[in-house]
Formats: sequence, C-alpha cells, structure tokens
Amino acid sequence: MIIDVHYHLVPALGRGTARHMAKYTVEAARRVGLDLDLEQCTQEALETFADPEGEHLLKRMDDAGIDVTVFCMVDNYAIPGSTLEAARVANERAAAVALRHPDRFVALAGVDPRRPEAVDLLRRCLDDFGMKGLKLHPDHGYDPVSPESFALYEIVQERKGVVLIHTGPILPPGRGATYAHPLLLEDLAVDFPDLPVIAAHMGQAWWRDWAGLASVQSTLYGDLAEWQILAKRSFPLFCKDLREIIDRVGIEKVLFGTDGPVLDPVVSSAEYVRIVKSLTERSPHGIKFMPEETAAILGENAVRIFGTFLP
Ligand SMILES: [Zn+2]
Repeated sequence: MIIDVHYHLVPALGRGTARHMAKYTVEAARRVGLDLDLEQCTQEALETFADPEGEHLLKRMDDAGIDVTVFCMVDNYAIPGSTLEAARVANERAAAVALRHPDRFVALAGVDPRRPEAVDLLRRCLDDFGMKGLKLHPDHGYDPVSPESFALYEIVQERKGVVLIHTGPILPPGRGATYAHPLLLEDLAVDFPDLPVIAAHMGQAWWRDWAGLASVQSTLYGDLAEWQILAKRSFPLFCKDLREIIDRVGIEKVLFGTDGPVLDPVVSSAEYVRIVKSLTERSPHGIKFMPEETAAILGENAVRIFGTFLP
C-alpha cells in the first residue's frame, strides 16, 4: 500500500493564492535547474490546482499508484479578510470530499490557533465534519507550543487524531522559519504522549535537529514532502541523507509525502514514487536500501498511524 501523508486539497482557488502557490513551484523548479515562468505557472495553477471534488487528486493518485492520500487544509489568520466563516467553509468542503471517498482520503483540518474561535472551529471540523486531525503552519508567524496551540493539541489527542506540522524554512523565501524549527516540537511531544505528530519535511535543511529529537521522542515522525527536489537535484545526496536519517531515527519514523499539488510541475507524484522505489537498485556505491525499508516508507509506517481511519 502506498500512502501520501502530505497533500494540500484546494477546494477553490483565487488568483492571489494561485500566484503564491506558483511562486513555490517556480522556486522549487529553479533548484533543479528548470526555468519556469511565474505567469504561466499561475495560469496552470488556476486551471489545475483547484479541485472541489477531489477528482484531480484521484487521477493523480491512480497515475502514481498511490492508494490513500492524507490531505490537509491551511488556515492563516494573518491574511486580511481570512474570516472564521471562510475557514469553516473551506474545511467543511474538504471534509465532504474525504467523506465521499473514505477508502482513498483522510482529511486534516486547517485551524490557525491565533483565531479567537480556534477551539470551537477545530471541534466542529473533527466532531461534525469528520476530519481526523490538524495541520499547523507556525511559519505563518505563531508559536507552535503556545497555550493557544496546546489547546488545539488537547482536542486532537482526545479524539485520537494526528497532527501534521510544518517544519523548516519554507518556499517562497520569507519570514516565519524561526517558529518552524523542529526543536520547538519537544514540549509538544513530551506533553502529548498519545498524539502522533508528523514534522512535515522532517525540518528540511534542519533535519538533523528533527532527527535528534525524533530518535528519543516515540510519537514524533517526519515526512518526505519536498525532498523530491533534492532527490531530483542530487540523487546521491538524497540517498546519503535518507540513509543516515533511517540509521539514526529508525525506519518506522519516515513517511512518504509529496506536498502536492504545488510540486507536481517539477516532480510528479508518479516520478517521486518511482524514485523511492528505485532506492533499492539505484543508490550510489556504499549506500544500501532494503525492499522492506522502501515499503515501510511508502506506506506501511503510515498504515500504523492512519490505518484506523480507513475502512
Ligand atoms: Zn505542505
């Protein structure tokens, strides 16, 4: 079974958000030596990223051989005009998509802890809309271990849900990385011993800090979203880092994720699945991956975390 634990479902998309997402695509492309045009990427984002019924995503999963996708919503209270109503509607629409395909999708709510009504909104997302956990973006400028954030973890842990939390400097370049440092997750792991926490991107360039923490905190996991850029740019370095991560942290902590759909124009999900599968044969001299390890990364580890949500 192949599970993508980190995807962004976009029920509706305006030009401003499309442009922001396209900037990410263009920056990521630049890192693999591709020169993409921002205007063209914005237009393509408008045409292909909005996915109100999840049909694009299902097609993409079928092309890549992905059985289940865990998709998340993003809520940023700092954006002017980001109303409670808009956040509720976006979560409810995404949740409805997941409910229509319970064998293919698991939905995580996007709730910014800075919202005065954050606790009530998250309760609605989990209890009324049927979402299975929470995605946080502290890089939007908030502390992931503030009392407001802790109030949300409390709710997710009570319902045996999962938290996916952005870690690492984010593209396009901007502020906020300080709050996305993986070491901030220490108190979260200690104070919520029954809450699986997935550090998105494993902290990216700060993966060693994530690895240090994840090697001692049993509930802290990491995902490989955005690592396809490194895999494409320097496959030997991708292999070297991933081997070291597995050896230091344990194979059970590493989960496959794509961060789609923004990176699809650079590395498709199908290509990323192929890259991970090929680790057993294509790794450079001196680095070895076993088929059991790629199977664990691609899905078996995620089954242990998300399997209870699947029929
Ligand atoms: Zn993401």
